[in-house]
Amino acid sequence: MTKNINVKTGSRTEFVNITLDVQKLVKESGIKNGVCYVYVPHTTAGVTINEGADPSVVQDIQNMLNKLIPHDAGYRHMEGNSDAHIKTSLVGSSGTVIIEGGKLLLGTWQAIFFCEFDGPRDRKIMVKAMGE
Ligand code: ZN
Repeated sequence: MTKNINVKTGSRTEFVNITLDVQKLVKESGIKNGVCYVYVPHTTAGVTINEGADPSVVQDIQNMLNKLIPHDAGYRHMEGNSDAHIKTSLVGSSGTVIIEGGKLLLGTWQAIFFCEFDGPRDRKIMVKAMGE
């Protein structure tokens, strides 16, 4: 069964650590060994797995993405959020983590981040745990 995590973002660009929310849904699923899919059904927000211990890391990622992909750069898309679409394509819309012993098999420093690029908005993240 697919479960949702709802996130309310507070600024235009924001990385939200959703690791504990995902782990909670994996536990509720009862799956002990398998895989967990994390999927973001939006075109201006994505998901990435990176360092969660030092918050400077995700700040650096956001700062560099903003530098590489400016908000206004003569884009054709009339909605005014092409930078958010491009950033979403770069980070991707999904992540996969192995489940072992009912737990997400993340590396010591890894965390799962929901990546907002066109907030603030109400967002949804889909989580599906599969296995036995
Ligand atoms: Zn758009």
